[in-house]
Parts: sequence; C-alpha cells; structure tokens
Amino acid sequence: METLQIEGIATPVSRVALGTWAIGGWMWGGTDDAQSIATIRAAVDSGINLIDTAPVYGFGHSEEVVGKALEGLRDKAVIATKAGLDWPDGSVRRNATAERIRTEVEQSLRRLRTDRIDLYQIHWPDPLVPHDETAAQLERLRREGKILAIGVSNYSPSQMESFSRKAPLATVQPPYNLFERSIEKDVLPYARQHGLTVLAYGALCRGLLSGRMSAATVFPGDDLRSGDPKFRPPRFDQYLAAVDALERFARERHGKSVLALAIRWILDQGPTIALWGARRPDQLAGVDAAFGWKLSDGDLRDIDALLAQHITDPVGPEFMAPPARQG
Ligand code: NAP
Repeated sequence: METLQIEGIATPVSRVALGTWAIGGWMWGGTDDAQSIATIRAAVDSGINLIDTAPVYGFGHSEEVVGKALEGLRDKAVIATKAGLDWPDGSVRRNATAERIRTEVEQSLRRLRTDRIDLYQIHWPDPLVPHDETAAQLERLRREGKILAIGVSNYSPSQMESFSRKAPLATVQPPYNLFERSIEKDVLPYARQHGLTVLAYGALCRGLLSGRMSAATVFPGDDLRSGDPKFRPPRFDQYLAAVDALERFARERHGKSVLALAIRWILDQGPTIALWGARRPDQLAGVDAAFGWKLSDGDLRDIDALLAQHITDPVGPEFMAPPARQG
C-alpha cells in the first residue's frame, strides 16, 4: 500500500481510500449492513485505512455503519466525513452556515462513535454563506480538537483561495477518474501549487471502470446510474467500448486489469488518493494490483488517444450537484 501524509493527521494515510456512499443505500438501490461492515473491516485488514463518509449518505446511515464497523479498530482507521448539506423536507440542499456545521459535527461524532474526526470536509460550496463564516467555524472545531484536518469538496480554486483566509486547508475532494478530467485545468494545478492532497472521487466512474459492466447491466430502485447520462444511450456504448479498449491495453502493456489501471492512473497524477466505492468485500480483492508499477508518459499519451477514439460525446458528473437553498 502506498501512503501519504496529510497535514494535521499523524497516521500516514493509504492512497486508496474506501468510499462509503453506496453503503448508505440512498441513491444506490439499497444496502446490506452486514456486507457493508465486512467490507469496511476487509478494507482496514488490507491496509486501506482512510474511510470516507458523509452525513447525507443514507441520511446518517453510512456514518452509523462506519462507526459500528470500526468499533475496536478506531486507532487503525483515519475517518474522513463531511458537513454542509441539509435535507429539512427530504430534498438535499447546500447549507454551510456556522450553525449547521456545529449541529452536524456533534451528530457525526455520535454516529461514528468517536471523539474526533480526522478529516472534516465541506461537501459542496454554499453560495449563500461567506467562505469566511464556514472556514472560521471549521478552524474553531480544529482548535477544540473535534477535527484534526480541514478539507473541501467540489470547490473551485477561487473558492479555496477565499476559504484558506480563515482556515488551513489540507485536502480537496473533486470528481476525478479516467473519464472525468475537468480538474486538470484548474483544481489539480492549484492543489499541486498549494500542497493540498486531492481525494479523487468516483475513481471507478461509478463502477464503469471496474470492467464488469455490459450493455445489459441494469440499475435497480433509486440507483443514480439509471439517470446518469454516461449509462444511457447513446453514450453507454461509447464508454463500454472505451473500457474494453483500456482492458486490452492494460493486459497487453502491464498484465493488469482495467480496474488496476484506473486506480494506478489516478495515483500517477499525484498528489492524489483514489476513493474507491466498494460495498462488498470481494470488490476490494484487486487492490494490491494497483501498486508497485507506474504508467509511462507514452502510456498516458496512448490512453488519451484510446479515450478520444471511443468517446466522441463525453459528459461529466454535473448531474450529481445538489441545489443551493432559495435565498
Ligand atoms: P466509484 O468508486 O467510482 O464506484 C462505486 C461502484 O463501483 C460500487 O458501488 C460498485 O457498484 C462498483 N465497484 C466497486 N468495486 C468494484 C469491483 N471490484 N467490481 C465491480 N464493480 C465494482 O463511485 P463512488 O462510490 O460514487 O465514489 C467513491 C466515493 O467517493 C464515494 O463512496 C464517496 O465516498 C465519494 N464521493 C464523494 C462525492 C462528493 O461530492 N464529495 C461524490 C461522489 C462520491 P455495484 O456495487 O453496483 O456493483
């Protein structure tokens, strides 16, 4: 396992983190708690010590399951959770007021069965609240010892710049994978320049880059992928063809699977951590295959050519963004 150091957190953090959105069930067609707990423990056993969750993932459920799974293992894990969303009438909106964050941190500490949150991130920027207010509240929590390090998610460089006036920013969590690359023009260079760690979410592009999907794959219940433009005609065929081409490339050049390639590719963009959203222990089986090798500059160029050849109508993950409150 490769690790890196996040300012404020003494334990070195694994460069593959377990993402637990699907473990919350909501927007992923339900969940199985026994499997989820086994997955979290399997992750820790295999050296994945960073566990990313959020209050909104199943409206508290993901955090509760993480808390339960880590009982007796708390000191082996680094917990990252978030704040800054609410759902007063069931629909999720942005809310990063100081008051909301104070309420959320107490709820998260209780659900996670811990006295500290290692990394506390603002989930989405709230256009109705000055960054100074949000950041100052996080800095207060850091000084109180309730949180150890501060991060943001889905922020632009200018939003990070304002936020950093009142709080030391350690990490940023944007969408980033082989198919979703918009951060390369702004957030990634900013992170490199300012020494921030990038927690790349959707590392497998919601399972597409696992190499296990086909045109016949269906998404039951409220699974967000049934409304994801990548998983619908006409684009689904393009993305599946790209996955096939990447699978052949990974096998021929490196004797690896497309899944290992997808994770390696993120790690080779450094200073990055790949957030892998597994919800069954067997889904983590291939984690070791991502380590101990590197993609060359030639590999990276050839990968880009394959992507351009197969994906003629690319689309990003913008459909996932929650709305602001009405002002
Ligand atoms: P992801 O990691 O790209 O994909 C997760 C899905 O991939 C799983 O639910 C699973 O689908 C499939 N999968 C995983 N391992 C597999 C394997 N070995 N074989 C086959 N399929 C496999 O997407 P994500 O969960 O959206 O993103 C990862 C994490 O990033 C989240 O859990 C969350 O912690 C974080 N995130 C943050 C934000 C934000 O706004 N900050 C947004 C999105 C995600 P099935 O179980 O259906 O097979």
